[in-house]
Amino acid sequence: MAVLDVVKYPDPRLREETRPVEAFDDALATLVRDLTDTMFALEGAGIAAIQVGRFERVFLIEARVAGRGDDAPVVFVNPEIVESGRGVSIGEEGCLSFPGVFVEVKRPKWVKVRAQDQHGQYFEIEGDGLLGRALQHEYDHLTGRLLVDMVGMVKKEMIKRKMKRWHSEHDADDDMGDDVAPVGV
Ligand SMILES: [Zn+2]
Repeated sequence: MAVLDVVKYPDPRLREETRPVEAFDDALATLVRDLTDTMFALEGAGIAAIQVGRFERVFLIEARVAGRGDDAPVVFVNPEIVESGRGVSIGEEGCLSFPGVFVEVKRPKWVKVRAQDQHGQYFEIEGDGLLGRALQHEYDHLTGRLLVDMVGMVKKEMIKRKMKRWHSEHDADDDMGDDVAPVGV
């Protein structure tokens, strides 16, 4: 079991280009297991590999959100949105990379996603409501799109301020006790 550190905004890794998975091997299985542990530990509805600093095109959706009764999350490898629409819905979203931030986001109400599972098998899943929203949110991560890009200017500034405060309260005092003198002093 490994709970990984989640990359928080504005870490530039959240904007990195992601790459398709080609090998459905043990390394992928380990990544999926670690993402599962991390998602459960943080009680997320979903998580994308890029949020733990990995650039494979992989995300997970929690089982209940995905409408599956069991405990195993649904694993999406190399996902594509094949269709979306049926109107627009506005709903509140949070993100593990933006702790404490919740904003209203406007999205297509319904979406259909085609992906491979962790063994390479293709499948399709469609959904509206929370599932539709989670699928689009996680897919956005693979394209570098974040909550902060989905809101107007005022909310954007609010999010940036909130995250600045979060980092000042949570980041370890790595600079303290270092041998290197602080720059600019
Ligand atoms: Zn997110």
